[in-house]
Amino acid sequence: MPDVLSHDLIIFGAGLAGLRAAIEASRVAQGKIDIAVVTKNQMMRAHSVAAEGGTAAMMRPEDGDSFELHAWDTVKGSDFLADQDVVDLFVHTMPSEILQLDHWGIPWTRREDGRIAQRPFGGHSYPRAVLAADKTGFFELQTLYDTLLKYNNATHYNEHFVTSILVENNEFRGLTVIDMTTGQFKLIRGKALIIASGGGGTLYGFTTYSQTVTGDGMALAYRAGIPLEDMEFLQFHPTGLVPSGILITEACRGEGGYLLNNKGERFMIKYAPSKIELAPRDMISRSEMIEIEEGRGFKGPRGLDYIHLDLRHLGADRINEALPLIREVCIEFNDLDPIKEPIPCRPVAHYSMGGIETDITGATRVKGVWAAGEAACVSLHGANRLGSNSTAECLVWGKVTGGESARYVREISHFPAVSENAIEAERKRIFEGLLSKRGPENLYDIRRELRSCMDTHVGVFRTGDGLCKALQTIKELQKRYENISIADKGARYNTNLIHAIEVGNLLDLAEITVAGAVKRAESRGAHARRDFATRDDENWLKHTLALYSPEGPKLDYKPVTITTWKPVERKY
Ligand SMILES: Cc1cc2nc3c(=O)[nH]c(=O)nc-3n(C[C@H](O)[C@H](O)[C@H](O)COP(=O)(O)OP(=O)(O)OC[C@H]3O[C@@H](n4cnc5c(N)ncnc54)[C@H](O)[C@@H]3O)c2cc1C
Repeated sequence: MPDVLSHDLIIFGAGLAGLRAAIEASRVAQGKIDIAVVTKNQMMRAHSVAAEGGTAAMMRPEDGDSFELHAWDTVKGSDFLADQDVVDLFVHTMPSEILQLDHWGIPWTRREDGRIAQRPFGGHSYPRAVLAADKTGFFELQTLYDTLLKYNNATHYNEHFVTSILVENNEFRGLTVIDMTTGQFKLIRGKALIIASGGGGTLYGFTTYSQTVTGDGMALAYRAGIPLEDMEFLQFHPTGLVPSGILITEACRGEGGYLLNNKGERFMIKYAPSKIELAPRDMISRSEMIEIEEGRGFKGPRGLDYIHLDLRHLGADRINEALPLIREVCIEFNDLDPIKEPIPCRPVAHYSMGGIETDITGATRVKGVWAAGEAACVSLHGANRLGSNSTAECLVWGKVTGGESARYVREISHFPAVSENAIEAERKRIFEGLLSKRGPENLYDIRRELRSCMDTHVGVFRTGDGLCKALQTIKELQKRYENISIADKGARYNTNLIHAIEVGNLLDLAEITVAGAVKRAESRGAHARRDFATRDDENWLKHTLALYSPEGPKLDYKPVTITTWKPVERKY
């Protein structure tokens, strides 16, 4: 038997969603439940730390903003695939989250009159992104982490890699983890679980995400019998820095930056005349690709042709005050000062709209399991997320799932039993199966080829032929993955083994993403099919569900919740 640890509530992930959940669970239970927060890197190294531009909330009703307007922007932005009851809960909860963080000490950027500042973001009809310069995620995560330290009922498991979610009789039993510092295999028993493990951005080669964002929680939930929802909707952000893919925040356009083609034209005027550079991301990304494909882009390295993001007219003072990180990144990585030169950008894989299916409270179909943040699909973003709605989502459903799970845990007197067979099967899968592999295939070649396949065939524009090719390639890569070799047989910090597990997860997620995309014969939000160029509400106003089977995902569908707004043509 492995080492066995027990905690009432386990939080899988220490990003904005996980930390917000931990605080709320502690508060609701008045410190009387025992919480584990598990992360594969260090606290404060979750990818949330990279969030730049802002967090959306309706803060100024006296100045023309309203809950209805935020909700409408989100629903229209989602290309009508968002569940409208979810959107309603979201917009009404956010203002108090902004004030809560303020009370916990976050240094929100202020207006001249001392009130919390807000900046414009794409697809929003009011400047509603609350910000801390262009380091919003860093300050949010730091504030939540500091606040969590005030409670002494949470144990932090840094560098513990979760390998499986144990479910029996449709009820949560525990997690298996590898303590990366020692290589030890452990069981963490629990009464309840919140999966807050982030997105799967590194399915792609050209991405804003770090190598740690590998969709583990989504893949593990899927294998544990929880469906994944709407995985074909992957957001491409319009301004990834060429050639690295580092995010150049939408706040640059919120502050007044222009997108220019090689003729010096603000090309967005023709695609979205009322919003121009502040149209939603799916629309701008498609427009950029059209400009590039029709010869109005700039030649970039490795096929990464680009357009220009021009900030020069904002002037040095504005850039230094509002976008200091962006200036630093451009200087450090491209030897380019945006005060003097335009920034080379193109669409970049950025955000998973899909994820673990939950209801409006973040509960999954498995008793005792909730999901929150980018790992989850509570159906807030539908087919296209609006910028600054994601960090906000993490706060809202961190709070909701933390409260729900704490109340649930307090009703349960004993830890549900975990079958020894299940634990042993997982130990064998990793330490006798994966770790002992000495096959001819190179893990890193497989990862590279997977990413190149996704970049090529499952990008901003898709076709049925390309998607079928991608599915075939993914299936071949899955076969080759069976014959990899793990060169490092050591116990401590065996990153070779960890990468192998992550690649296994990515392969499953790629298969699910593409399977859903092949079937969805329409264009909606971030899923733009050249062979089905328009939205088809009659046949496709529905969510995709992918259910696990050993042969591959089985697809099912469920209706979208429409309470207020019927779908209309989406124009900006
Ligand atoms: C560069 C960048 C800028 C962004 N800017 C904005 C912005 O301005 N506004 C906005 O609203 N959104 C923004 N986003 C999106 C937003 O930041 C993310 O969607 C959000 O922060 C995700 O938070 P999370 O808590 O769900 O996951 P994460 O912050 O990714 O945390 C996931 C956690 O799960 C842990 N984990 C994962 N797998 C395992 C495993 N196998 N075992 C153990 N632990 C594991 C990780 O270690 C981590 O602690 C940005 C995204 C990027 C990439």
